Amino acid sequence: MATVNKNYDKLQGAYMFGEVAKRMKDFVEKNPGMEIFRLGIGDTTQPLTPTVIKGLKEKVKKLGSIKTYTGYGHPQGDIRLRTALAEFYKKRKIDLALEEIFISDGAKSDSGNIASIFGLDSIVAIADPVYPVYLDSNVIAGRTGEFKNGKYEGIVYMSCNEENGFVPALPKSKADLIYICSPNNPTGSVATHKQLKAFVDYALKNKSVIIFDACYVQYISDKSLPKSIYEIEGAKKCAIEINSFSKWSGFTGVRLGWTVVPMDLVVEDAPEGKLNNLWNRRQSTMFNGASNISTEGGLAVLSESGFKESKKLIAYYMDNAKKIKQSLAALGFKVFGGENAPYIWLKAPKNLTSWKFFDKLLKEAHVVVTPGSLFGREGEGYVRLSTFADKRDVKKAMESIKKNLKI
Ligand code: PLP
Repeated sequence: MATVNKNYDKLQGAYMFGEVAKRMKDFVEKNPGMEIFRLGIGDTTQPLTPTVIKGLKEKVKKLGSIKTYTGYGHPQGDIRLRTALAEFYKKRKIDLALEEIFISDGAKSDSGNIASIFGLDSIVAIADPVYPVYLDSNVIAGRTGEFKNGKYEGIVYMSCNEENGFVPALPKSKADLIYICSPNNPTGSVATHKQLKAFVDYALKNKSVIIFDACYVQYISDKSLPKSIYEIEGAKKCAIEINSFSKWSGFTGVRLGWTVVPMDLVVEDAPEGKLNNLWNRRQSTMFNGASNISTEGGLAVLSESGFKESKKLIAYYMDNAKKIKQSLAALGFKVFGGENAPYIWLKAPKNLTSWKFFDKLLKEAHVVVTPGSLFGREGEGYVRLSTFADKRDVKKAMESIKKNLKI
């Protein structure tokens, strides 16, 4: 008799945007024709750049000819793309072997799957609030107990709050797998070298592994901030890095990312090379490689012109961030993030809950945001604004908040 994986029953509600979409739909149905401004979901809106389009088109053309058609690729990803990524890291003085880079279909699947190479008894530390995939994937795997009083038993929560600038302090109790997302979704905070070094030192001392989600690092303009965990000495012994073309170059629908599992990475019962080997085994068993069309798009991003164009794309969204931040601050709101990250973390006024403030913004200003409480208990009392919108919508949204929101 087949049975279900009961860990799924422990998950809290549908994936986070379900309720947001429902409330938005209800509002639209009750207010037909009303213009609403979507600053909720972190999905890109601006078109792919010319160099990327050229790369994608050329590959599609090749696939249409018997002479140039290609099928399955290298299980770890196209060697040209891995070479281009190794060069990209080299510019930041980080040396990676091609065997250490695994091309994927994006950071979500890798950040959800990566824990499968670690023992089920590994204790997981997760920032609160943070991108929910790290937590949910570990709930599904069975690394947690029940959900009680807003927290899962067995998880080490690392609080992110105004006092610590939304960058978590070291875990208070022993943790084996530590998830760090910097620049952070949802708070827009970025960890400094010193803060990351503290985590690396902790991991080396405790034989823990850091899973570093770097998918927003291209939004860092402050040169003093780290863009890779491997900028920290010793990190190759204790950290895996996950990254993506999604927010860098508008690949949210194209799908392409990569994960670095260094050969030097070790844990208690795994010598050098073993974890790299396990991830290779996991991926070659359960993943058949990134799309060869997307791969050509990724190569285009890493070309000289592609790189420049992606920079412009990022500047577009960061201009939105600046405008949102300035407008909200001018209205007296407490606003965080949005300087080296595409998210604005907004404190709800008058101690409103995240959902109450969400409803108020929707009903009065017709602006859709994401309630901070969906990212963890410590996100209560905040909302997240995504800057991945069209600039005209951002302008209208800010005007509408100024004119219509009864603060
Ligand atoms: N990691 C973080 C922190 C994210 O915010 C997101 C998407 O919003 C992802 C990963 C998923 O990225 P991808 O589109 O590469 O799967």
